[in-house]
Parts: sequence; C-alpha cells; structure tokens
Amino acid sequence: MRIILLGPPGSGKGTQAPILAEKLGILAIASGDMFRAAIAKQTAVGMEAQGYMNAGELVPDATTIRLVTERLTEADCANGFILDGFPRTLPQAQELGEKIAIDKVIDITCDEEILIQRISGRRVHLPSGRVYHIDHHPPQVAGKDDETGEDLIQRDDDLPETIRKRLAVYTEQTKPLSEFYQNGDQPTYHEIDGNQEIAAITQAMLAVARS
Ligand code: AMP
Repeated sequence: MRIILLGPPGSGKGTQAPILAEKLGILAIASGDMFRAAIAKQTAVGMEAQGYMNAGELVPDATTIRLVTERLTEADCANGFILDGFPRTLPQAQELGEKIAIDKVIDITCDEEILIQRISGRRVHLPSGRVYHIDHHPPQVAGKDDETGEDLIQRDDDLPETIRKRLAVYTEQTKPLSEFYQNGDQPTYHEIDGNQEIAAITQAMLAVARS
C-alpha cells in the first residue's frame, strides 16, 4: 500500500502518518523530517535546505525529489509507505508518478484559523519526528517526549511570521496537486475533513486506506 497524504501545514499529516503506518504495517516517510535530520547532521542537503525552511519556502525540486525518491527505493519501503509532505509541487508529483505507482491519495482539508492554532501550539521531538500540541495532544510531562523523555522543541518555521508564509506557499504551489490527483485516472483521490478530532480523522483515513 503506497499512500500520499496531502494537506496544508497543521492539517494533521505529521500526527496521522505514523498512526496509520503502524496500523497498516507500512512506513511513514516525512520529507520535512528528512530535511530536519539533514540539517542536524549538517550534510550538503541540510545546508541547502536550511535557508528555505527557515523562510517558510520550499526546498528546490531537484534536491527534494532526489532525496525522497532515493529513500523510497530502500528495502524497508518495499512493503509500502505513507508519504507526509511529499509531493508538494506539480513537478514533484509528476516525477514521483513516473517512478512509483501510488495506490491512494488522501487530501486533508482544514479551516485556516484551526491550522494556525494547531501550528502555534505544536511541539516536536526532533530525533523521532513525534508531534505534540500543548493543548490538544500534550506530552505526559510538559516539554518532554513521552517515549524518550528528551526535550521537545518549537520548530523555527512554526513561529507566527513564518506560518503565514507557509500557508501562502501551500495555496500557491501545493493546492494545485488536489486537482492534479482528482483528474488523474490513477491513483484514487479521497478528501478527508481535517477539522475533526485526531481519533476521528484516523478512523476516516483508515476507512479510505482499507477501501
Ligand atoms: P514539513 O515538516 O512537512 O512542514 O516541512 C517543513 C519544511 O521542509 C517545508 O516548509 C519546506 O521548506 C521543506 N520541505 C518539506 N517537504 C518538502 C517538499 N516536498 N518540497 C519542498 N520543500 C519541502
């Protein structure tokens, strides 16, 4: 099962992808996590990506496509995967489609005020990519990851001035993918209401994945 998750920042992709992956026995691959790991390791890709990410802009297609499509050919992806944050532009979607057949596209829609509220309260455990929210999905101990007890951080690009930029970039560059996948014969496109509670969204997504 190969699934693409579409949806604006804050729609719940990073929360839902690992839950779904576990239930379906596949891998969650988040392009943003891959870039954050590359920055932490100060690799060439990380150095290139950092400026774009901090500005709330997209990393150039060539670098992003290479990073993600190479990852998808690794052995642990053979059983399937759920892609969180990729593709985000038409060229990314086209190249992915040429290389790998996708079974389902799940597009999470959400109202803008809810997105902003979710992103501003988001806290992340960087090494694992685990995502929390200070009100709606708090860690057991404030500021600490449930599994490792390590510190949670607020992402630099989750600060208010960058959030608006990222939402604008989504509308301009990523939203057209909804139409792209809706109009294609394959793969199947499904829209989910992302304004709901976490558990309700998971149920709706599982129903799509298993349909
Ligand atoms: P995310 O964690 O998915 O919100 O991604 C954080 C940031 O990483 C984005 O704002 C972009 O700067 C970069 N990024 C992640 N995925 C992509 C992608 N598919 N194409 C371009 N840039 C990306």
